[in-house]
Amino acid sequence: MAPELGTPIAQLPRVPRRVADALAGIGLRHVADLLFHFPRDYEDFRDRRKIADLEAELPQTVVGEVIDVEARGTGFGKSRLGVVVEDDSAAMRAMWFNQLFLKDKFKIGRRVQLSGKPKLAGLRWEMVHPRITWLGDDPADDPASENLSPVYPLTEGVPQHTMRRVVAAAVDGFADLPDEVFSGALRAKHGLLPIGDALRAIHRPKDEAERDAGRRRFVFQELFVLQLALAARRHQQSVSFSAPEIVVDTRLDARIERLLPFELTPGQQAAIDDVVADLASDQPMNRLLQGDVGSGKTVVALYAMLACVAVGWQAVLLAPTEVLARQHNQTLAAMLRASRVRSRLLVGGMTEKEKAEVRAGIAAGDVDLAIGTHALLQEKVEFAKLGLAVIDEQHKFGVRQRALLRQGNRSPHYLVMTATPIPRTLSMTQFGDLEVSSIRDMPPGRQPVRTYLVEPAVEGKWWEHVRQQLSEGRQAYVVAPLIDDSEAIDAASAERSFAELTHGELAGYRLGLMHGRLTPAEKDAVMERFRGGATQVLVSTTVIEVGVDVPNATAMVIASPQHFGLSQLHQLRGRVGRGRHPGICGLLLPHELSDAALSRLQAFEQTSDGFDLAEIDFRLRGPGDLFGDRQTGLPPLRIADLVRDRDVLIEARTAAAELFATDPGLKASEHKLLRKQMLRRYGDSLELGDVG
Ligand code: ADP
Ligand code: MG
Repeated sequence: MAPELGTPIAQLPRVPRRVADALAGIGLRHVADLLFHFPRDYEDFRDRRKIADLEAELPQTVVGEVIDVEARGTGFGKSRLGVVVEDDSAAMRAMWFNQLFLKDKFKIGRRVQLSGKPKLAGLRWEMVHPRITWLGDDPADDPASENLSPVYPLTEGVPQHTMRRVVAAAVDGFADLPDEVFSGALRAKHGLLPIGDALRAIHRPKDEAERDAGRRRFVFQELFVLQLALAARRHQQSVSFSAPEIVVDTRLDARIERLLPFELTPGQQAAIDDVVADLASDQPMNRLLQGDVGSGKTVVALYAMLACVAVGWQAVLLAPTEVLARQHNQTLAAMLRASRVRSRLLVGGMTEKEKAEVRAGIAAGDVDLAIGTHALLQEKVEFAKLGLAVIDEQHKFGVRQRALLRQGNRSPHYLVMTATPIPRTLSMTQFGDLEVSSIRDMPPGRQPVRTYLVEPAVEGKWWEHVRQQLSEGRQAYVVAPLIDDSEAIDAASAERSFAELTHGELAGYRLGLMHGRLTPAEKDAVMERFRGGATQVLVSTTVIEVGVDVPNATAMVIASPQHFGLSQLHQLRGRVGRGRHPGICGLLLPHELSDAALSRLQAFEQTSDGFDLAEIDFRLRGPGDLFGDRQTGLPPLRIADLVRDRDVLIEARTAAAELFATDPGLKASEHKLLRKQMLRRYGDSLELGDVG
């Protein structure tokens, strides 16, 4: 039989039916699947010794048979497990404390491999808490000692030694069969192993250098293909859709600036320059505007919307919540009082009659500027002439949502705004089809926010600070991760904090309670009372995280802060210090906190720049929920790690851009395989279906 990548795993030598079935359960059916089932880690068992040859204190590995097991309670619930293992040179004792559950696994006669640092106890070698590798009965299945041993993701019914054997069989017989997508020139330029060598290196490296070289090829390939797909998407968008050319001349610029109540900051001006350049082209703008909370992104959006309206097109501003949409509506209405721009709010809380009226106005072109929630899109409002869509506080305005606002091959321009900066590596990958503008300065007179980590012992003092602010006429937020105590997590809840504070530290003050289970009308009412000053303290979940602007609020108290990401904490901190008065932010530390959590919170205490915090958070926690695949709609990366493989990413990105520039449709025959791989992986999620 000629070897083929499509060979079913069951046809490999010594693969029982039940193993093949278990592997099929995790999507491993053919030898090709095994070749690309990469190790998640490696173990180093290279220094293998006969027991008689062991040396003290060096990490070494022995293989032997269990000949004796003794378990003993040592009082007060403690225990000691001793296992004697023998090879053909001598016997050794392995010891575990308080791990009696291991006892039943050490059957007399079972073969095990033990790794650790031995020491002599009397006349016998002893290892305390060695690493155990359970071996099969056949020494031929043992992990190869001259190589690093791969550690594979497993499934029920397939132990590690079996997985190693099955993958090794696939590598031995089939590693040279997969298509080589890279030309020799490209491999040479970027130092990439050919596919067969790379597969052998990643599954069976003789040392760390070989392991890294094997892995690097696949990381590069994955990121390269992704970058090609992103380039293809940009290319395709630019040829398939056209947007109105909105040209801002000096007269229009002066007219718009007259409406703004303040001087623009250099960061705002630079962002506006980027936007103005994009709008003048008939290719739809796809720009992400990132800037810290309070950096003044709204004005950039307003500028773009006014430019659009001035030349006869409509604009829409979409906010994630009704509270924010109403807030934007108020701000814009105030700034637009001196203009003829017809702006209207459209949110779920309005009556059906009001909504129908606004929709009709939008469809007839009588409304220039519509302000609403993201949900507005789902209701499929028909715009007469939509030129620009601004999406506020949303990291990703997905490919599919964008499609909703298109009409035929006409697309509006898009401006997406976020206060949670996207780490560079992510803006080059998951968000790679957006251009980025960043505002890194703040409007003048912004008051600093002092941040405190509040130990339980000094909480009383902290609340004195808060009461001091309140007595000076300021307002405060108290934020907790949970709504109520019903959830299984041990963290503060808004309801309990509200109850406790009402009768405790903040007795006598006027408190309001806000969380996601309130109806939109209730939320609005709570927010309105706080905004107007009727409520002094707003106890809330993170529904107030984004965008809420109450300049008189100066104190932010965060309970159970360890449950929040740094960017999220930063968003919360940004709710205060927005007016004339400096803000304070206190993180109420729990009684017990891991070292890792504490150092994360210390980083937060010491860093006031949102961009830096986003990078720190990303390094410490990875992409996490904020930037998860769920948000971006792209399939997850399989091997590349954006934190660790940053340099490879930059190299792959440049290489992909070069290749795409020489052959935009990837039509050349030597690019056929790359194109196929790109379409197979990203064709759907990036809507590349009709490329070429
Ligand atoms: P964010 O970027 O968080 O959305 P906003 O657009 O809400 O920030 O602006 C925050 C506050 O700063 C608002 O009250 C706004 O009026 C004010 N602001 C924005 N730009 C300037 C500026 N150039 N000079 C003074 N105040 C400004
Ligand atoms: Mg905002």
